[in-house]
Amino acid sequence: SVTIPDGIRAAASRTPGKIALVERDRQLSYASLIGRIDRVSNLAVHFGLAHGERAAVLMANRLEYVELVLGLSSAGVSAVTIGPASSAAEIAFILNDCTPRLLFVSPELEERARESGLDGVERLIVMGEDYEALLAEAAARPCPVATNAEDIFMITYTSGATGTPKGVMLSHRARVNSFHAMASGHSCYSPHDLALATTPMFHGAGFMMAAAPLFFGGACEIIPRFDIEELMRAFDRTRASSVYMVPSHFSALFAADIPRDRYDTSALKAIISGTAPLAQATKEQIIDYFGPGKLFERYGSTEASIVSTLRPEDQLRKIKCVGQPFPMTHVRILDPEGNEVPAGTPGELYSTSPMMYSGYWNRPGLAEKSARGDWITAGDIAMLDEEGYLYLIDRKSEMIISGGENIYPREIEEVLLAHPAVAECGVTGVPHDYWGEAVTAFVVLRAGRTVSSEELQRHLGLTLARFKLPKAIHFVPDLPRNSMGKVLRRTLRDGSWTPGT
Ligand code: ATP
Repeated sequence: SVTIPDGIRAAASRTPGKIALVERDRQLSYASLIGRIDRVSNLAVHFGLAHGERAAVLMANRLEYVELVLGLSSAGVSAVTIGPASSAAEIAFILNDCTPRLLFVSPELEERARESGLDGVERLIVMGEDYEALLAEAAARPCPVATNAEDIFMITYTSGATGTPKGVMLSHRARVNSFHAMASGHSCYSPHDLALATTPMFHGAGFMMAAAPLFFGGACEIIPRFDIEELMRAFDRTRASSVYMVPSHFSALFAADIPRDRYDTSALKAIISGTAPLAQATKEQIIDYFGPGKLFERYGSTEASIVSTLRPEDQLRKIKCVGQPFPMTHVRILDPEGNEVPAGTPGELYSTSPMMYSGYWNRPGLAEKSARGDWITAGDIAMLDEEGYLYLIDRKSEMIISGGENIYPREIEEVLLAHPAVAECGVTGVPHDYWGEAVTAFVVLRAGRTVSSEELQRHLGLTLARFKLPKAIHFVPDLPRNSMGKVLRRTLRDGSWTPGT
């Protein structure tokens, strides 16, 4: 079994002159990418980092992200990837938790990095002049450290949406298997393909989107910051064949009202949506906009990696479905006693595959708490149908208990999003003296549209039982989201956010 740099090296030996990575007007051929990966690994050795130690990376998506993570891992050093929107306190938490001795930071984040106190960091390396000078001094030949597929190449922290942030350890073995599963499940990585990477690379999924194409000899263009017009222009300019997007990107597309013929997106073979629920109404809009045969909806988690995907040909046949498990992946739906439930019955989703994480950094025993033997769960409630297709109901921890009834917010969000005036929404249970929790909806309207809460209640009442109807509907200009665009229902619930800021 190979490491990620092994695979990219093999691709580079076949086509050294081919462009591997692009970011705006900068580009790297395979040969130059390998040279820079080697220099980064020798730099790590020069600073005395031993196999198994950590170095942190704090920056938005940029060309150097790939060479940094892969170069460090070529020296057996795990890259701790910190989200660029992290506060100084969050950075301090991560630095204390996993004690990296080096911190690579982009110039615009240097000040915030310093505010974190830089506990334990021996050298802050600022991208640009400082980094390039160090790289120029390092040798461009493979570093002498022996690495293996079980090495942890990346530690990425959970957002903390469901508790204290945890460092998820990802091995080369897990990711290489995910690359193969991605390639076979979405048929999007060949030497002729170009992928656009637009989701944040500090996140497991975002990094995979940038590195996987290179493993198969393809190319990747990095989009530093999501902007829908820029992304649409990039589809047209680059003739990209695949992209990974999150549901909020599609909301941005439809809110921007970009005419279908303004940009040529015909080269796209795979538009992969994941990370958060994609409402059926939005799926239909996407198919209508980009044409049939392109949309995949993928389900997974940082810990389990990719679990299932709904292929384009099933989109209109399997409603509100996240498809079939990827190759090498088994799924089971269990009741609270751990017994498998029959098709059509909801329960907790467990999966097992060679793509899973290697545990949480510095938290012995914690991974076992959400596992049953080799099977792990992300705490999602789901259901299988007779054909083995998976339906995600909601996160167990976000279930609302109102008047003694169990209510899943996603069911209400799906119906709200099917209303023509609703652009985005989030539903949560707000603490309530009488109901325990009161179903509460937060709604962002489409530009130029108005609707009353009575009208929305009528619309909801056509499909939903009375007890599921919101006790209050708030119209807001936007919703609190994490850096992957996921609506933060907990923030909606505790009111710790100011709409429109
Ligand atoms: P944290 O662990 O800090 O709470 P997080 O769980 O959101 O953050 P991820 O591992 O990226 O971090 O998210 C995995 C979760 O995202 C899944 O367990 C599931 O609830 C949700 N998810 C992923 N893909 C889909 C999808 N296609 N449809 C619905 N939900 C999805």
